[in-house]
Amino acid sequence: MDYKSEYLHPQFEALSREELEKLQIERLQATVRHCMNSPFYKQRFEECGLKPEDIKSLDDIRKIPFTTKQDLRDTYPFGMASVPLTKCVRLHSSSGTTGNPTVILHTQKDLDEWANAVARCLWMVGLRPDDVFQNSSGYGMFTGGLGFQYGAERLGALTVPAAAGNSLRQIKFIKDFGTTAIHAVPSYVTRLYEVMREQGVDPRRDTKLKVLAIGAEPHSEEQRKRIEDMLGVKAYNSFGMSEMCGPGVGFECKEQNGLHFWEDYYIVEIVDPETLEPVPDGEIGELVLTTLNREAMPLLRYRTRDLTRVLGRTCPCGRNHIRLDRMKGRSDDMIVLRGVNIFPIQIEKILMQFEELANNYLITLTTDEDNDNMTVEVELDKFDDDYGRLQKLEKEIRRRLKDEILLTPFVRLVPKGSLPVSEGKAVRVVDKRTVYQ
Ligand code: AMP
Ligand code: ZN
Repeated sequence: MDYKSEYLHPQFEALSREELEKLQIERLQATVRHCMNSPFYKQRFEECGLKPEDIKSLDDIRKIPFTTKQDLRDTYPFGMASVPLTKCVRLHSSSGTTGNPTVILHTQKDLDEWANAVARCLWMVGLRPDDVFQNSSGYGMFTGGLGFQYGAERLGALTVPAAAGNSLRQIKFIKDFGTTAIHAVPSYVTRLYEVMREQGVDPRRDTKLKVLAIGAEPHSEEQRKRIEDMLGVKAYNSFGMSEMCGPGVGFECKEQNGLHFWEDYYIVEIVDPETLEPVPDGEIGELVLTTLNREAMPLLRYRTRDLTRVLGRTCPCGRNHIRLDRMKGRSDDMIVLRGVNIFPIQIEKILMQFEELANNYLITLTTDEDNDNMTVEVELDKFDDDYGRLQKLEKEIRRRLKDEILLTPFVRLVPKGSLPVSEGKAVRVVDKRTVYQ
């Protein structure tokens, strides 16, 4: 390994657009041919009369039907596999709230490639074999656990599988092992910092932390800045999803100007969720991904439900892999209140601009006498019993939220530590409305 190189895989990371697209069409053709081994895709292709030789250019991808989460549920557990089960060495499953869960199968080669992708992301933001990487995310079925574990090991870092929770132990590990990098969901990082503060631990003085990988849930730029200021580190956005392996799909480079999605692994499309037609660069639409080097379970034109937009296809870091904006949220997470569409992240963005407020908040939707309402509860950073000052603050928050979301929620300022904290992905919205809109 060349410690000094900015690229872990220069043969892929440093490709020109032209070279990348040439690689993509070759890999797409091979993937489509391979999909003929999957009972699901074989039938799909027959139904729409598609033959692998019909895919001659990257634009021909539009001839392929979309794959949805429902397809994964309908073929549960193994109906999508493109290889015999004896070739598979692992599965990850996500429990759906409705219907069957979904299953993603992996061969050893898939796991190797996945580890390579995560290692590449961590290398890109400066991790090297002399780093100590603490993975403070849930293990088990949640892919952020094993995904980062194998990726950091592949890179050669000393890896601490701390898992989520037990903040006092986490802090002890950080200090005793000289942890330089952590991966965790953003809501847990803020919790960790609060416990550090309670324990009198100053991350700048008492730890060697320099890099954080935060992801797995939507978070605002404001939240990221807070995390960076609190811990005195760089915090890089990491995008992943089980269907695409897990982490390692999209990651920010040191420029922090959007997520590089690895185009030697995936074809990225952004489509209008209604018409399913491509949207121009810069416009928000649904992210659709096609895997390019998966063996056990390739997925073609998978509708992720995540909303984002293309920011660019070049970058001062030298990589030409597409850059996407941080996720605005999933289309399923959109709140429709009195006919207005709202994403929780819009509310977070405003709350994080008030230094009087801590990091934890909860949005509750209720029906009160036939009227649907939103209450935003948010924790105060410091104890305050000046009623007049609190009232003024509450009013100002309400005003700023109204400017952003176009309706006025109730705002409740609550003492620090009074809202629930989760060790996995944060639950930000509780919908108690009697009639859903
Ligand atoms: P899972 O497969 O359970 O790990 O969930 C994947 C989903 O988590 C994605 O489809 C996104 O909705 C969300 N997600 C993952 N990473 C991010 C990120 N960096 N920013 C926003 N949402 C994310
Ligand atoms: Zn870059």
